[in-house]
Amino acid sequence: MTELFPAEDYSQPGPAKKSPSAPRESYARIMPFDGGGRAYTYVVPEEIKTRLAVGSLVKIPLGSRKTLGLVWEMQVIPEEKFVSKMRKVEALCYDIPVLAPDEIKLCEWIAGYYAAPLNSVLQTMLPAAVRQGVRAVVERTLSLTRELDDEALAALRRRAKKQAELYELLRDQGPVSRSALNFSAPVINALILAGIAGEKTQAVSRVAYADINEASAKSIPQKKISLNDEQSAALESVCAGLDSRQYRTHLLHGVTGSGKTEVYIGAIRKVLAEGGSAIFLVPEVALTPQTVERLRMRLGDCGTQVVVWHSHLSSGERFDAWMDMARGSARVLVGARSAIFAPMKDLRLIVVDEEHEPSFKQGETPFYHGRDVAVYRAHLCGAVCVLGSATPSLESFYNARIGKYTLNRILKRVDEHAFPPMRIIDMRREILHMQGQTTFSRPMLNAIAERLEGHEQCILFLNRRGYSRALICPDCGHVITCPHCSSALTFHRENQSLRCHLCDHIESAPSRCPACSSANIRKKGFGTQRAEEILAQRFPEARIVRLDADTMSKKNEFRKILERFRAGEIDILIGTQMIAKGLDFPRVTLAGILDADLSLHVPDFRAAERTFQLLVQVAGRAGRGQLDGEVLVQTFTPSAPPIQFAKRAEFDEFLEDELERRREFRYPPERHIIRHLLRGNDRQLVEDTAESWARFLEENAPDLCEIRGPAPCPTEKIQDNFRFHLWYFCDRVSAIIGKLSRLRANFPWPEGVIEILDVDPMDVN
Ligand code: ADP
Ligand code: ZN
Ligand code: ZN
Repeated sequence: MTELFPAEDYSQPGPAKKSPSAPRESYARIMPFDGGGRAYTYVVPEEIKTRLAVGSLVKIPLGSRKTLGLVWEMQVIPEEKFVSKMRKVEALCYDIPVLAPDEIKLCEWIAGYYAAPLNSVLQTMLPAAVRQGVRAVVERTLSLTRELDDEALAALRRRAKKQAELYELLRDQGPVSRSALNFSAPVINALILAGIAGEKTQAVSRVAYADINEASAKSIPQKKISLNDEQSAALESVCAGLDSRQYRTHLLHGVTGSGKTEVYIGAIRKVLAEGGSAIFLVPEVALTPQTVERLRMRLGDCGTQVVVWHSHLSSGERFDAWMDMARGSARVLVGARSAIFAPMKDLRLIVVDEEHEPSFKQGETPFYHGRDVAVYRAHLCGAVCVLGSATPSLESFYNARIGKYTLNRILKRVDEHAFPPMRIIDMRREILHMQGQTTFSRPMLNAIAERLEGHEQCILFLNRRGYSRALICPDCGHVITCPHCSSALTFHRENQSLRCHLCDHIESAPSRCPACSSANIRKKGFGTQRAEEILAQRFPEARIVRLDADTMSKKNEFRKILERFRAGEIDILIGTQMIAKGLDFPRVTLAGILDADLSLHVPDFRAAERTFQLLVQVAGRAGRGQLDGEVLVQTFTPSAPPIQFAKRAEFDEFLEDELERRREFRYPPERHIIRHLLRGNDRQLVEDTAESWARFLEENAPDLCEIRGPAPCPTEKIQDNFRFHLWYFCDRVSAIIGKLSRLRANFPWPEGVIEILDVDPMDVN
């Protein structure tokens, strides 16, 4: 980090010492946003003294410039010798603090626990407009200046696809704020230059509260709901926690369709009635319009708005929503992981729905886990945290087992429908009859044909999140695993070897299956696109739509497809696990998983957990209406525990079994893992650095913790970067993270190698 403070800056870094002969003037420690994460002491002028509080945003001189910072500590007593040279706080930006005292503690905890620079945490916690101290956000809006006829539009599409997409968006939606657009500046500017779109600077009408899908709101009939016994018991338990006004975390384990959301709503209503506020975290806002609409309708009479926080908000909407929450006029927030930092007043309840979802973990600095931050924030402010899931994470299940969390269960579906039967298709046998394609077995094709005939719908899943690089024998289902680590070895094509990414065990890839001697062991991969092609050939009359990463990122596209599916305009939807969540389509009677092995035999100690979750969540999608549903699962390893447990709907049995396996290898939740990732485009340099760092650790901190690696990451190269990692195992992160950070700071990292720590990693690739 460059030194930001010239010698003549007398603001004092480090904690100010208490001195008996303190002057009468008032001093505060201020944390500048751009000051390298250190706080400095300033004089507080008389005129703002009474309005200043911990967390206030202020303007200060720093070195030769002016900057903004937060009041970190009030009433500090500096050492006398510095006092005469100390500089003054210049102005107070807002009449309210932008961080409450417990949010400052939260910020410090995140910085410490996740070994992240404090400034990066502040950046994550506060919207940009707030950090800049703006009064009101003026926005540039974009709108069409002329319409294109069909021919011109077609030409634009051929010439510049993105511009055509932007044109269509503006045509369909009218004026849109520039900052809310998911298009690059060159695309936008090109459309303006062509005279097709124009830009205005104005205050736009802020629609953040009215957003998400009004069409779907109308299609959900309002019905009177009285909770069943299990729901009531769960709600009573949560309410007892709320009454105590003390921190408590509940794990609400309710099967899919068991009415968990009604329990959340009951708790939120109580909180609102008592004047408190609540945060509702969902894994991905774009995928949960139904939930958001439901909350809006069911909380409409509570005298507050339900704010939705998502990545498509314009900076103005974000700013307004944030201010409304900070002032206490908006008291319910729904949002994805970053909503956990909302400045709610008198926060009493945090709900984390689908708490097992890996998307709660941020994939960049700070690598925080939204669920874990939720629990810690509840702890700091004496609130109740409710973690809900049909398939709880091992971590939360473990915490409930050891009594840290209260376990509440709902084991019946609301409609009393039984779970749809799950049929496991043994691909070892089927593969012989599949004639040239390896995607659809006969039973799967027959089941799809039946649905098409009966005008029912199918959802087909192909989980592409994992990498199918494990060697699986198509004849006997044998998977080659590491003798030391219980994870699948990955196949490296370059040198035909099998490697363990955890301990760097290497063996040469066999040309025949070690179990059955089959020579077919090299499996061919497949993807959603291929699946779509095969289906289209097979069922030329069927209306098939594929949902992939591209469609996911366009919110309207995604919604439109789901609307069309709901309206019965699509027969077969093919997509990844993402579409398994929260979707409720009464006419879906077949849910098919095309390759359960894709998530099972990946080099990830959570592979079994993920596979079980996938199967159970998918099973929850079929047969929700009056028609009976069925789930078909294609796998080469039909006897694998997660598949068998899911088939029998044995939740506890799976969790216990998996916990036992984790214990054996001492993986989380038994212990914590810190992943140290090194990358750079010179492979040798990255590898050498990883090794010399490991030696450095060995010499300087031999007893720090158990260390595995360095080893190449399973995904060894990403965007020309070679990646190596080390894993640190510990009972408590806080016991080693400080020392690890200091050691890191003292190691001569070469230029060309970037290293990061990921505490409690979800992504181990
Ligand atoms: P989950 O979140 O557990 O998957 P939901 O809360 O979405 O389940 O409930 C599934 C459906 O059942 C929703 O349409 C909801 O309105 C309805 N529902 C929930 N609880 C009840 C109840 N006690 N009586 C009647 N319908 C209910
Ligand atoms: Zn190994
Ligand atoms: Zn075999």
